[in-house]
Amino acid sequence: MTNTKRVLVVGSGIGGATAAYALRRIGMDVHCIDTKPETPAAGAGICLLHNTMRALGTIGLAEPCLDSGLAFQVFKQHDATGKLLMSNPAPPGCGMRRPELARILEGAAQSAGALMEKSMTVSDLVDRGEKVEVTLSDGREEAYDLVVAADGAYSRLRDRVFGKEHAVRFAGQSAWRFNAPRPSEVDGFCLYRSADGKRTVGALPTSKETCYLFFLENSVEHLHMPDDQLHVLLHERLEAFSAPVIRDALAQVTGPAQVTFRPFDITLVPAPWHRGRVLLLGDAAHSPTPQMTSGGGMAIEDAVVLAECIAAQPTIPDALQAHSKRRFDRVKTVCDASLQLCRYEQDPVPDPQRSAALLLQTYQFLGQPM
Ligand SMILES: Cc1cc2nc3c(=O)[nH]c(=O)nc-3n(C[C@H](O)[C@H](O)[C@H](O)COP(=O)(O)OP(=O)(O)OC[C@H]3O[C@@H](n4cnc5c(N)ncnc54)[C@H](O)[C@@H]3O)c2cc1C
Repeated sequence: MTNTKRVLVVGSGIGGATAAYALRRIGMDVHCIDTKPETPAAGAGICLLHNTMRALGTIGLAEPCLDSGLAFQVFKQHDATGKLLMSNPAPPGCGMRRPELARILEGAAQSAGALMEKSMTVSDLVDRGEKVEVTLSDGREEAYDLVVAADGAYSRLRDRVFGKEHAVRFAGQSAWRFNAPRPSEVDGFCLYRSADGKRTVGALPTSKETCYLFFLENSVEHLHMPDDQLHVLLHERLEAFSAPVIRDALAQVTGPAQVTFRPFDITLVPAPWHRGRVLLLGDAAHSPTPQMTSGGGMAIEDAVVLAECIAAQPTIPDALQAHSKRRFDRVKTVCDASLQLCRYEQDPVPDPQRSAALLLQTYQFLGQPM
């Protein structure tokens, strides 16, 4: 594609910011907006698997992530006391803090010349075939060759353009997350399981000095936790874990703002992920449970592949068709594996060996081309 095309990216999260950068790199005129007033400065950690690092590498962003986070190559399973039960090599990944990832992705997009605007959303949108006419929330009227809806799992643009039938549903599990100083034992993806196998705590390095921990809680319905009691409720839930890694980390958790609680709300929109010139990207198209630590990775791959398709195809509609063709089956495999792992954890008698086997098998799958 030769002449300059104008794109609106709605959402500057992991997928949107990567898309803004990747599309700017191929010469598109990029406008990226987000309802948030600023780049998040707080948040838990994130695991960038080998395929995610590969995708970031193709756009030159793997190095800054490795500089900020910590590379790892091991997947370890422990009991609740911290005794190591199993250690498997894992393909090289990187753990890092989410605000750092946001800073790197948004910074790259901005430095490359993308216009990044905060406290902004879409008020109205009409696809005229050759252009999409958009009214922004500040009243401006603009026309774009492409609109990328990267507005997350609860995407308003998806509801508007694709209908509400693809709205998220609850997967029966939620995550508690908190940050802590990193003990040397947390040198990879670490799981700690209670004696009955029904409670799982995970730990992942996010830098040389820091790590983050998560605890998975099963429930039939969405749980609503009082925001001001999150730290107390977390302590109660982890009483059965005597592993020093967990006890030492918990000792640092003294206030509710240190803890986040989030239900696993999932969706997978059937291909194609575009209607006319509006494309869903990242969680807006596919929000998996986090067991494969791949939602962000899939969003990054979506963005990189989108830029490749636009660069290779003669028109935007051709590129959007090619994008869904390249992405859907791969993303579905990851969503299915993640959900299966989530279900295994909800079994009356969970089998950690079976879960580990599926996790490692899906790691291998992820090594295939994106
Ligand atoms: C507990 C948990 C752990 C996870 N761990 C990992 C992991 O280790 N590795 C991994 O790869 N993935 C992980 N994920 C998944 C990952 O967080 C998501 O897949 C990823 O954030 C999706 O990126 P996104 O850009 O599509 O959406 P989001 O990150 O949700 O970004 C959407 C953006 O759109 C903005 N927005 C929303 N609505 C509008 C609007 N109407 N107009 C303008 N802007 C809007 C929001 O403010 C936000 O900035 C995890 C998820 C959970 C819940």
